[in-house]
Amino acid sequence: MDYQNIRKQLVAEYNRLTAVKEHLLAFGRLDTNDQAQLDHIEAKLQTIRRALRRIDSGTYEICEVCGQSIGIARLEAANDCCRCIACESRINARISTAGRGIRAYRPAFVSESQASW
Ligand SMILES: [Zn+2]
Repeated sequence: MDYQNIRKQLVAEYNRLTAVKEHLLAFGRLDTNDQAQLDHIEAKLQTIRRALRRIDSGTYEICEVCGQSIGIARLEAANDCCRCIACESRINARISTAGRGIRAYRPAFVSESQASW
């Protein structure tokens, strides 16, 4: 399977978000909304970098949780996702029942040294 089109979309989105981030940072003083937007952008950039690493290492279509195929239809709909629909639903169910202490699910992360991204 050739992911070059998806890769191009991801890189374009990465560059767009980086430009927005730099624009925000250029003002120097960030209010609460700017900071929230910046956090959101940073999280998204991290997700995109991870997707790009997965493409480059040939594991793009493999669910990070169960190792099964994510399916190309799902990847085309959400090009930076890393889990199959079954695992995603399980994780979302866990978050919604986890209570206030847990704000976000943090997946096991691919170490930076393994990839060029
Ligand atoms: Zn899975």
